[in-house]
Amino acid sequence: MAERILTGIKPTGQLTLGNYIGVLKNLHKETSRGECFYFIADLHALTLPIDPDYLRGNSIDLACFYLAAGLDPNKVTLFLQSAVSAHAEMNAIMQNYLYMGELSRMTQFKDKSAKMNESAIGLGLFAYPVLMASDIILYDASIVPVGDDQKQHVELTRDLVNRFNHRYGDILTMPRPEMRKVGARIMSLSDPTKKMSKSDPKGDIFLKDDLATIRKKIMSAVTDSGSEVKYDVENKPGISNLLTIYACLKEISIEEAEKEFEGKRYGDFKKAVADVVCAEMEMFQKKYQEIKDSKIYEQVLRDGAKRASEVANNTLNRVKKAVGLLAL
Ligand code: ATP
Ligand code: MG
Repeated sequence: MAERILTGIKPTGQLTLGNYIGVLKNLHKETSRGECFYFIADLHALTLPIDPDYLRGNSIDLACFYLAAGLDPNKVTLFLQSAVSAHAEMNAIMQNYLYMGELSRMTQFKDKSAKMNESAIGLGLFAYPVLMASDIILYDASIVPVGDDQKQHVELTRDLVNRFNHRYGDILTMPRPEMRKVGARIMSLSDPTKKMSKSDPKGDIFLKDDLATIRKKIMSAVTDSGSEVKYDVENKPGISNLLTIYACLKEISIEEAEKEFEGKRYGDFKKAVADVVCAEMEMFQKKYQEIKDSKIYEQVLRDGAKRASEVANNTLNRVKKAVGLLAL
């Protein structure tokens, strides 16, 4: 069987340049390595309070963004998580094989719940990794491209697969997280020690920002003392982040990027970064608008859900049988 590749993005807000560089930009290349399943993690978006119209709009945008990033719907299966009921069913089974202790150690849960009053933290936020593990195992995915923040959840899925297979035999496929060597963690432009994140929009570049705004945000990005354009995450987190953005979009190494700016001033460097980001976003936004206007994403998502359901229901039946649920 060809390897299966699975990844999802939550429609929790406007997509950022972090999401784009960390995952979206390179997804179209994966088709040469295996069978790709990409989804809109709308059930995951419900784990924090979200307005229904906002969620609907974000889901449509995300579908258009996937397609604008160059995905060919004939080669990849693109779908809404909520349109494939096997995700919720697998979740109901798998929640019995992950434990409270390990879930409470997840950094994402600790980060997101830290700002909340305990009585307002939903069970879904705590159990998020159970649903994510279910997403992955349903497709027998062996490769899971993610940014660095999701690595821990894929590791937990690996523990689950070991535990489950140890008990029931060789039922689930072992996944592995795959991260870009450079660009797995794009940082905020206003605080380069924090991850750029769509639910914490300070210092974000949004994929829908107009080009003038993008340019302004980059030109006013926090930089560091000194004047050399050097990659040094410890002492120059701001410059290092901009170098990463530049190198990823130009598809060159950090060293090559550093060389280009030897002896140049911060101002000239920022302008070059802004030029590259704006050029890429101009093309990307044009494609996004065409796809959105044509409404082609509707049929793509319907076809995708059908194809995804076939695969997912197969795995679900295998799991049901293994644990002793009657599948008549
Ligand atoms: P949220 O704040 O709602 O968690 P997010 O920006 O972290 O939003 P997710 O939907 O959680 O986005 O993640 C989508 C994908 O983008 C994941 O694979 C994640 O690892 C990746 N990703 C998220 N933020 C970054 C970033 N700053 N740099 C690189 N990759 C990222
Ligand atoms: Mg996240």
